[in-house]
Amino acid sequence: MELFAIRPEIKFGPDALAALEELAGRRVLIVTDEFLAHKSGLLEKIKERLKGCEISVFDQVKPDPSLKLVAQGVHALRAFGPDTVLAFGGGSPMDCAKAMRHFAGGNPPPELWCIPTTAGTGSEVTSFAVLTDADAGIKYPLVDDALLPDCAVLDASLLAGVPPAVTADTGMDVLTHAAEGCVAKRSTPFSDAMGEKAFAMAWRSLSHAHAGDSSAKGEMLLASCLAGISFNAAGLGICHALAHALGGRYHIPHGRLNAMLLPHVMAFNSADKDAADQYARLAGLCGLAKSPRALIGGVKRMRAGLGMPEKLTDCGVESQTLLADLDGIARAALADVCAPGNPRPVTREDLKAILKEL
Ligand code: NAD
Repeated sequence: MELFAIRPEIKFGPDALAALEELAGRRVLIVTDEFLAHKSGLLEKIKERLKGCEISVFDQVKPDPSLKLVAQGVHALRAFGPDTVLAFGGGSPMDCAKAMRHFAGGNPPPELWCIPTTAGTGSEVTSFAVLTDADAGIKYPLVDDALLPDCAVLDASLLAGVPPAVTADTGMDVLTHAAEGCVAKRSTPFSDAMGEKAFAMAWRSLSHAHAGDSSAKGEMLLASCLAGISFNAAGLGICHALAHALGGRYHIPHGRLNAMLLPHVMAFNSADKDAADQYARLAGLCGLAKSPRALIGGVKRMRAGLGMPEKLTDCGVESQTLLADLDGIARAALADVCAPGNPRPVTREDLKAILKEL
């Protein structure tokens, strides 16, 4: 038997933030980062909707949240005792909030609402929380249905000020989620429907969003959420497994790593007939020739058009450093929870060969 379920309620469209008025009178812990809390002016837009609420703000989240940070967050959560945790930000604040609520315990646990401010991770609808053990240089996803939020609020107005580099990084994360989910071992017609729609929407909108077009940013926010639903059901693959292993060591933005890896991973997976057919189908949906090769070429052109790097050396990682770390990165990637979802079986040597291309 197979199962496809969509758990969080998704509130979206113009003025979706009005949904926050349902939380009137509650005790709300907002989990966010310093930029969003103090420099963007956006936190005020959230607070003004939380009528009559007791509010506390945990604003310490940093990109790629660490175990130490989550422990601090658990302390803050227990001290305040909220009935609702409101994650406000990109994947980092959302994942941190998911992990904080999970580890703080409580019966029942506080409700979790997520408001994404980037169009990238889809974390608002997934049972993943990606954490980093900074001392060991390892980044890995926790996966548990208990991490699923109760409600996702998608309000595109929050993305107006996202700078082009963040739009590019997070947007390539959307394309990678959709592409990996559509070929993953556990993909089904239900997850494919979401993933294909997400891929085509992101393909059409990403360069316009990068140029600052606000309706394209709104399309990317929906595509990000659709891709999240797709990969949450279908699983991912070695692109994400390698991006986690590299991110734990070199602290390069997650979407930028995915963008570097995706064409190499697609070339590797194209030896699998079903994966090759699905890449060809995605290419056709984007108006390209219906072949894996056309899709791989298209992804490379998309990445170049967004001004993104192709190589780790462009991100400050010396070739010698990568070569010395190759075996450890390949081992970490093979142990990552995303690796078994890959459509083509993979060995440590295969992963090292892909890494050498970077
Ligand atoms: P992020 O949350 O780390 O944010 C990146 C930067 O963008 C930060 O400096 C932040 O302050 C800024 N920013 C966020 N919103 C903004 C806005 N509206 N305007 C201006 N600046 C804004 O980045 P991300 O790519 O959204 O999340 C990455 C994290 O999510 C990684 O740790 C990654 O591994 C994880 N991730 C999780 C899942 C999941 O399902 N849980 C999936 C993919 C990735």
